[in-house]
Amino acid sequence: MNIQSAQFVKGVVRGDTGIDPTIPQVVMYGRSNAGKSSTINKITNQKSLARVSNTPGRTREINFFLINQQWYLVDMPGYGYARASKSDREMLTNLIQWFINDSIVQNRKSVLIVDCKIGLTVTDREILQQLIHRGESVVILLNKSDRLTQKEIAKTQATLRVEISPEIPVILFSAKTGKGIDAFWDVITKEPAE
Ligand code: GDP
Repeated sequence: MNIQSAQFVKGVVRGDTGIDPTIPQVVMYGRSNAGKSSTINKITNQKSLARVSNTPGRTREINFFLINQQWYLVDMPGYGYARASKSDREMLTNLIQWFINDSIVQNRKSVLIVDCKIGLTVTDREILQQLIHRGESVVILLNKSDRLTQKEIAKTQATLRVEISPEIPVILFSAKTGKGIDAFWDVITKEPAE
């Protein structure tokens, strides 16, 4: 995809009704440190777009970026940060659940970024289940694949396939090298099956 423009629009909190439901969304989920910011910067071809989401106050919000004046790239807060307080964790869970279950949008695709050395975490699985339950279109990016050998990659993919339904695309990805970026756009720009 040719990215001509990308700009931060707003940080959304739970209950926010000011999101235009007619603008399509591509939503990025990921455990903290899975490489979500690097992935956002890579796919939008921007050096530091996702830095906005990491500024004080914005880490607890869902950050919306408008791409090509046409669609939103939605940066969900990273979860699973070991030193987060219990109340912060609860707040995050509530925010993510609200977004998945109660925010209204006509066209949404969800991307789950997974560190391929770690695999799916408990929260990744919970989010995935909720998205599937809501009938959302989901793709998994196995990020940091540049860190694995072919053998390790095969093993990780096989492990994941046991628990992930075959309809969900799993893409070997690297925000560092750009591996998988074409496959990613192919999935994102494909119309959902009727
Ligand atoms: P976030 O917390 O999910 O936004 O993660 P970041 O994008 O900040 O990345 C966390 C760390 O992983 C940083 O040190 C990145 O440089 C590194 N990283 C992210 N993606 C890749 C990748 O594809 N390959 C490698 N080798 N490192 C990566």
